[in-house]
Amino acid sequence: MQFGWTEEEQMWRKAVRDFAQKKIAPRVREIDSGHNIPDDIIKGMADMGLWAPTVSEKYGGQGMNVTMATIAAEELGRAEISLALPVMYLVQASWGFILDRYASAELKQELLPKVTAGKGFLGIATTEPGGGSDIEGVTHCRGERSADGNWVLNGEKLYISGIKEAQRMGGIHMTLVRTDPAAGHKGFTFFAVSLKDNPHVTTTLIENWGRTGISTGGFNMENMPLADRYRIGEEGRGFYQAMEGFTFARALIGATCVGAADAALQMGVEYIKQRTSFGKPLAANQGINFPAAERFVDIETARLLTYKAAWMADEMYANGGFKHKDIALYGAMAKLRAPIMAFETFNEVANWLGAMGYSKEYPIEMGIRGVRSYSIGAEGGMNIMRMIIARELIGGEYTNPRQ
Ligand SMILES: Cc1cc2nc3c(=O)[nH]c(=O)nc-3n(C[C@H](O)[C@H](O)[C@H](O)COP(=O)(O)OP(=O)(O)OC[C@H]3O[C@@H](n4cnc5c(N)ncnc54)[C@H](O)[C@@H]3O)c2cc1C
Repeated sequence: MQFGWTEEEQMWRKAVRDFAQKKIAPRVREIDSGHNIPDDIIKGMADMGLWAPTVSEKYGGQGMNVTMATIAAEELGRAEISLALPVMYLVQASWGFILDRYASAELKQELLPKVTAGKGFLGIATTEPGGGSDIEGVTHCRGERSADGNWVLNGEKLYISGIKEAQRMGGIHMTLVRTDPAAGHKGFTFFAVSLKDNPHVTTTLIENWGRTGISTGGFNMENMPLADRYRIGEEGRGFYQAMEGFTFARALIGATCVGAADAALQMGVEYIKQRTSFGKPLAANQGINFPAAERFVDIETARLLTYKAAWMADEMYANGGFKHKDIALYGAMAKLRAPIMAFETFNEVANWLGAMGYSKEYPIEMGIRGVRSYSIGAEGGMNIMRMIIARELIGGEYTNPRQ
């Protein structure tokens, strides 16, 4: 068992931390109030190799493994507590990896160099108006082969991140549609759908109350013709690719929550050391420093689960050391614990700060708003994590919600 970091990992963490603390941390309020990640930050991230870093070097990425991508996620969470920019990062990192793994060389060459250069958005679209948890049951978007071997897509995706960004920057959303309705979960296929200047697509925007630096909305495809080269991987493999991408993204979500919670705890600790009440620092009261100790342990617990999920994924991809279901279990554990832990940490620190904690002078409120998107939605709700964990613990024959 080896809990240390390699020299390369330490150097990468330091490089991302230096960049993020200097270029991103001072601008969190601007990101949150402006409902936008400024172009110069996106360019800076792309120059640092932080835009879809998991994509292979051939297409402009860093060919980064899951652990390295997770380290960057933690540092971006530490710097951007509203958690909008980390979402932007983690969507590109996890789904860029899946696209690179399964799309044809021709499609990758067309799409990925723009994404890794920060000049194209790469999003994921599985959720529909009928729901997001039960993909097999509620996905109605359809893809039908036309006579010439290409496709026609119909249907609506909703609660999708990056609608405005994809229209502005270009790029694509990996869009899951049913291509064989009789085949159950084996009847899904991913397609690369562009939202920019697409006459067969209408978009909507939804106003969220958190992580407002990245847009959320939907798109409706109406008799949208699409060449077969925009199919991502084999027909019928979409459900499996979606599960693989979710697992990757859940480790990154865990890490962003760990980073943001750690930043909030450090802010709180600084405050309770200098603020006095009844003649002594707040920090001298066990009513304050015991909860601080609890939060410290909770952060480390979530960190351990997160990096274990990342390490297992690297072992699987590099050496075939684990099966996807093993990593899905640890990804779900990290995703179950980390967002709630971050929410509770923000809440606790807000208590220590008193009235200041309720003001916009401190960034804590952005964290409270932002992190709820991670527990409610973003790569599966909390009960879906419990479902995955219970399935592994007890057995799918007992826990399958369809039975
Ligand atoms: C800010 C934001 C951004 C998002 N971005 C994207 C995106 O980019 N791409 C994308 O595809 N989706 C995106 N989503 C959607 C997200 O994936 C879904 O919200 C999530 O999968 C849950 O689906 P739902 O909201 O339809 O809830 P539902 O599936 O309707 O579930 C409602 C609630 O019931 C729980 N539940 C469901 N089934 C069970 C059960 N059997 N037992 C117990 N509890 C159950 C769920 O956990 C949830 O709490 C985003 C969501 C948010 C909030």
